[in-house]
Amino acid sequence: MKLIAPFKQGVSYRLGDGQHIKFWRDNWAGELALETQFPLIFRLAVDKEVRVCDVRMSDADSVSWNVMLRRNRYDWEEQQMNDLAALLDQVVAEEGDDLWVWKWSRTGQFSVKTMYVKLRELETGASSYPIAFPYKVVWCRSIPLNIKFFLWTLMLGRTLTLDRLINMGIALPPVCFMCGMANESTTHLFLHCSKALQLWASLIQSPFIFSNLFGMDSIQEWLVAWPERKGPEITRWIWNLLPVAVIWVIWKNRNDKAFRDREFSVSKLEKEIKCTIWYWCGVWTGRKHYFFRDLMVSWKDILQGDLIR
Ligand SMILES: [Zn+2]
Repeated sequence: MKLIAPFKQGVSYRLGDGQHIKFWRDNWAGELALETQFPLIFRLAVDKEVRVCDVRMSDADSVSWNVMLRRNRYDWEEQQMNDLAALLDQVVAEEGDDLWVWKWSRTGQFSVKTMYVKLRELETGASSYPIAFPYKVVWCRSIPLNIKFFLWTLMLGRTLTLDRLINMGIALPPVCFMCGMANESTTHLFLHCSKALQLWASLIQSPFIFSNLFGMDSIQEWLVAWPERKGPEITRWIWNLLPVAVIWVIWKNRNDKAFRDREFSVSKLEKEIKCTIWYWCGVWTGRKHYFFRDLMVSWKDILQGDLIR
């Protein structure tokens, strides 16, 4: 395990003359480094390694902050800028040199023991990976390899939704391609988007499971919580492939809309999801007793375990 990252998390600075503190990178105002607290503004910073003393302008009776940005801000960046200004307003500098403080001990002094305790916590997952990884769903053998890979990146939070692209410094409007209403993130796109909700509602056909959707904070959590379903083989096959097919088809259609301006409808997506599941079921020998038509006509019966051949 690399030590520098958790070590840096444990250090916070008390501002003195600001000569030794990096304005964006070090942890000196608020709980986290400013680059983490205000990513939209950080990406606009002219000098990402600038020191606090080069940003903070003070004379006998006033202090101002000269945060240099590459361009004018868009509307959706204003909120973070205002929050940053409010935070800087509260900063008080002490006389003399900057001091660093070790957050994970009561005295503020660094010790190997407190570092060790924190590392153990990070390694056992107590603070870095609060949610289990949905291995069963992601490594299901009948899902094609490229889709497994897509799911893997999705679980790692690497899927290039608009919120991530904007954080990476690309200037884009943040609005979801599917509904045009809310900002796009993976949680929105796959769970809470009005189009996604319509799809889940129509495909799951159970008010109880549907209501669970609103309690989920991430797509990963949703996949881990995906319940088992008992019943004939056809029911289990379709039920287990359903969440991945929904995610994959939403992502494909979202990209078609984003890059090729192709329109879609919820009913088209629903049909495509059923086609996808049918295709993935191709590795199951029992499929020969059924027809694709069954998925279109008897979907509800299949999910309830009432269609057996
Ligand atoms: Zn949406």
